[in-house]
Amino acid sequence: MKAGKIYLVGLGPGAEAHMTARAREAIADADVVIGYTTYIRLVQPLLSHQQVVKKGMAEELDRCEEAIVFAKQGKKVALISSGDVGIYGMAGPTYEVLFKSGWSPDSGIAVEVVPGCTALSSCASLVGAPLGHDFCSISLSDLLTPWPVIAKRLNAAACSDFVIALYNPKSGRRTEQIVAAQKILLHHRSGKTPVAIVKSAYRPRQSVVMTTLKKMVDEEIGMLSTVLIGNGETFVKEGIMITPRGYADKYVDFTKEIKEGEQAGHSLSMGLTGWHEIVREHLRLHPKQSMQITSERFDVPMGEVLKAVSEAGDRPIPGRTVERIKRKALPGLLITMKQVRIRWVAGAAEGTITLQDATWAVSESEVQLVGPGTSVALPIDSIKGIWLSRSGSGKTLFMTDRFGAVLLRVQVTAQSALRVAGP
Ligand code: SAH
Repeated sequence: MKAGKIYLVGLGPGAEAHMTARAREAIADADVVIGYTTYIRLVQPLLSHQQVVKKGMAEELDRCEEAIVFAKQGKKVALISSGDVGIYGMAGPTYEVLFKSGWSPDSGIAVEVVPGCTALSSCASLVGAPLGHDFCSISLSDLLTPWPVIAKRLNAAACSDFVIALYNPKSGRRTEQIVAAQKILLHHRSGKTPVAIVKSAYRPRQSVVMTTLKKMVDEEIGMLSTVLIGNGETFVKEGIMITPRGYADKYVDFTKEIKEGEQAGHSLSMGLTGWHEIVREHLRLHPKQSMQITSERFDVPMGEVLKAVSEAGDRPIPGRTVERIKRKALPGLLITMKQVRIRWVAGAAEGTITLQDATWAVSESEVQLVGPGTSVALPIDSIKGIWLSRSGSGKTLFMTDRFGAVLLRVQVTAQSALRVAGP
């Protein structure tokens, strides 16, 4: 029997002009075309001999199963979907259903995924260049994804300053998700952040609305809309939404003239291998600035600032050194602690405990600060860096985790007493 084939075809946003040549070939080559009614309508001009199977919205798994049945009969089937078939589309579920039915890539039925122009690209093209820097897409559909997962991703994307494309932002039944999403995004981003709402891109009812994060929920948003949310640098000029890539930071006024300290074709001075030196230079110029403030200024964890200073090498930073301490050197390091004050934090409450004559105890599993009747313990595995920082006459010991966040800060005061604080 002739081997069957499944084409998983992304049609692009809608207009035939944005469909790829391969998508057309796949449809022309198919014996059967399966798809949601709207998409069948989109490819109508390309249909001649093909058997057509129209499906409703909710019958996604049916579509996969039916495609497999036809392919097993030796037919070539085109399963069509809008945009890119692998992006919130049929490609994933089809492979999963195939594997469930015992299929393997060499079992006779061929599968070809035909990529298409996804909504975030087509919608972006209608508003300018909003995706010019790092972006992500998040679907607000909670039909298959629990809301806490969606909320966590929204939060992570917002605090990492990604441009965000929201797919499935709203439907007849799901009207509150977009409001909940806006609330999360507003925790990290200004209400003035540019937002574009693009509906039915490259289809007859196409509409584009430019608004802001604060006002976006007042606009009409539906099942056929994609919402593009700018990052902290996105701007709108004469109706065109742009997210800068950073040329303006490296080149003078978009000419070929490169700013001082930068090199064409090379990583930025703040690139992977250069930025620690920039941090050190900053501290040389600002001898009074605390490392805490420096870490906030560069928006990096304290551990990175401590590491940068510890690697100053033969260009030391006047009045400041940081030494990396081995865990086993800890007990000997601060034996002369007469008084230790510990700030504790529990939820929103905080207070202090004073330990007299505290000592370090390092066991297999914990680092402990032990005083009469009290002890403070940190799991040893959570400590990835121990740093002794000296600036002026003060000494501070930092313990940092694998992200460089401060777990414990022990400050040696002038009277050789110690102050201990949490992050
Ligand atoms: N596979 C599709 C996405 C399917 S999820 C793709 O790659 O584009 C359905 C969501 O896609 C819609 O809710 C909407 O957010 C977006 N979408 C699909 N086509 C669109 C179009 N022509 N204009 C605007 N948004 C579109």
